[in-house]
Amino acid sequence: MELTFLGTGAANAFPEAFCRCENCERARVLGGPSLRKRSAALIDDELLIDLGPDIMTASNLHGRPLTRVRYCLQTHAHADHMDPSHFLSRSPGYGVVGAPRLHFYASRGTLQVAARLLERDCAPLSFFDPEMGEQLNLEIHTIEAFQSFDFGRYRVTAFPANHDPEVECLLYAVEAEGRCIFYGADTAALPEAVWQGFHQAGLRFDVVILDHTYGPEELGTDHLSARQVIAHAARMREERLLADGARVLATHIAHEGNPAHPELAVWAAKHGYEVAYDGLLV
Ligand SMILES: [Zn+2]
Ligand SMILES: [Zn+2]
Ligand SMILES: [Zn+2]
Repeated sequence: MELTFLGTGAANAFPEAFCRCENCERARVLGGPSLRKRSAALIDDELLIDLGPDIMTASNLHGRPLTRVRYCLQTHAHADHMDPSHFLSRSPGYGVVGAPRLHFYASRGTLQVAARLLERDCAPLSFFDPEMGEQLNLEIHTIEAFQSFDFGRYRVTAFPANHDPEVECLLYAVEAEGRCIFYGADTAALPEAVWQGFHQAGLRFDVVILDHTYGPEELGTDHLSARQVIAHAARMREERLLADGARVLATHIAHEGNPAHPELAVWAAKHGYEVAYDGLLV
């Protein structure tokens, strides 16, 4: 599996375009990996994680066309992860040629938000109407926490995030070709049930991607902080959830408490993990 980070920023990107804080000003000067779009990732050019607001820009900027995307795992419905206008813009009605049918996997809560946001565009049909599916070239799959499911050459297990219970946020373990990636954003400290679920599913991760909204001097609340990422990686190592040579990468990085990429990457390396950046291929 090849995973490309299409975005590694938190909800307001990095630099936050309206902000003159020290971190944003430094990121503007440095450019490159210090410029973060809203979080999303692409596996093997066919499996998208999150239909995020910046995926069009990311695709063009990092030379990763989304023309072959046929699966999307949606973590949740927060606006920095789901822009439902992409359902319309990738449809034949918008002149799109040759896009495969999109299989969209999400929790019931997330799908309800998508349906509400698309009410006007789908009227008089609903987002869930099979006829709408035809128009949008879309097939919707409702996923529950702890459910495992297969498509293409992938086996995916969904885990409940510790984030916003109203939209039932999910985290995903993706397995293919004997390798396993865990995509863990957005979430605060992983619930005990998730740790048990990792063991029950017999998972060993080659790549772990974790929420890193809060920086080295901040406490985690609704998201993980740098120190919690370190603690999570340590526990994974202790519980033998990491394969030999496994990589732990931070994503969903906010401007408030995280320095620009080079400084954060040095700090992370000292603590045994890496900081992802937009366009990074793993
Ligand atoms: Zn987010
Ligand atoms: Zn700022
Ligand atoms: Zn969120």
